Amino acid sequence: MSNSHDEVVKKMSFQTQAIHGGVEADPATGAIEPSIYMANSFALPYDPSSMNWSASEDNIYTRNGGVNQGALERRIAMLHGAEDCVALASGVAALSGLFFSRLKKGDHVIFSTVTYVATYRIFNELWTEKWGIETSIVDCTDIEKVKAAIKPNTKLIHFETPGNPTLCICDIEAIVKLAHENNIQVSVDNTFSSPYNTKPFEFGVDYVVESLTKYINGHGDSMGGAILGPKADMDKVRYESQVNIGGVISPFNAWLIQRGCQTFPLRMQVHNDNALYVAKWLEKQPCVSFVAYPGLPSFKGHELAKKQMKHGFGGVLSFGLKGEHDLYNRVVTHLNVFTSAVSLGNAGSLIVFLGEDDERMYLYPEEFHNGFYRVAIGIEDKDDLVNDLKQAFVAEGLEVVD
Ligand SMILES: *Cc1c(COP(=O)(O)O)cnc(C)c1O
Repeated sequence: MSNSHDEVVKKMSFQTQAIHGGVEADPATGAIEPSIYMANSFALPYDPSSMNWSASEDNIYTRNGGVNQGALERRIAMLHGAEDCVALASGVAALSGLFFSRLKKGDHVIFSTVTYVATYRIFNELWTEKWGIETSIVDCTDIEKVKAAIKPNTKLIHFETPGNPTLCICDIEAIVKLAHENNIQVSVDNTFSSPYNTKPFEFGVDYVVESLTKYINGHGDSMGGAILGPKADMDKVRYESQVNIGGVISPFNAWLIQRGCQTFPLRMQVHNDNALYVAKWLEKQPCVSFVAYPGLPSFKGHELAKKQMKHGFGGVLSFGLKGEHDLYNRVVTHLNVFTSAVSLGNAGSLIVFLGEDDERMYLYPEEFHNGFYRVAIGIEDKDDLVNDLKQAFVAEGLEVVD
């Protein structure tokens, strides 16, 4: 992989970078697509006596960094306009890898009321109890609340926008301004928006995390996560969280994700368009109690989302039914296109019912409290999606309109 290849591709458009970033024809064989290097270690030089066994730059051992991992990292860094990227085994490995490297005992973290469940558990239970990290859970859609939560030892503000699962929108630029005035760093979990819609570095954040499992891989068949930021900080993440804690991505998964990434911009546009179409239809239905989707003008964060999301509003929406708990379960049994499963970002649409006893329900807006669906809209035909929901509603005697 020549540096000049990436220097040229870096000046090209997002779509071209998603295909060519970090990878070129194999100079040894001429193969136009990269091979999968499953080897867990690499032949050492003639005299290895002065080697740094924890280094990630040279091929030593795949936990220090693999060939397929490197190609994936260069591509994701390019898509985000980031100086550097570390790809780990999952989105959660990336989140904990970043937090582990940036935080120490006695530090204070402000994190959003609406985050991925593992982020919530890390900051609400695990790290506070085990390692003495102080945390405040704050509604980061309200900049005044963020301001009021700042303490002398606050080191990091972490949030998602849109947030999982309420889709709430945080003002990235305003949070960054407030944080940097107070010498605090900002990390954003950008999984729901993806770099196609939002590049948080354009708004000044310090770090971005992506679950590569979702839109970037896009086919529901592998797991990975990325941490992005300045090279010196990513070197620290590599040394501390990758080489010495583990959590390394498998070469096969890295290869699958760089392969899936080639169609990511095309797929993401369809996710955006389909989700808006379905959200608009759902909003008209008498049996639907609410629809949370940033693309709807009725949604609280809509204007801000328009500013922060370039091509659309992502593929995830949440909605409620006017009915009791088991109605949600019964409706799902009639669906033919949607699959009842967690995750998002796959070609196929997924739906999951989150009941009243979800441990974080108290943190969500009132309309979510009786239970709701989180829907990951796929890239099927948009009318097939609407018709599938429609016939499932009708099968349960619910009122629908066109
Ligand atoms: C899925 C998800 C994660 C975790 O990613 P994994 O690859 O499943 O570990 C983190 N953040 C958000 C917003 C997610 O949707």
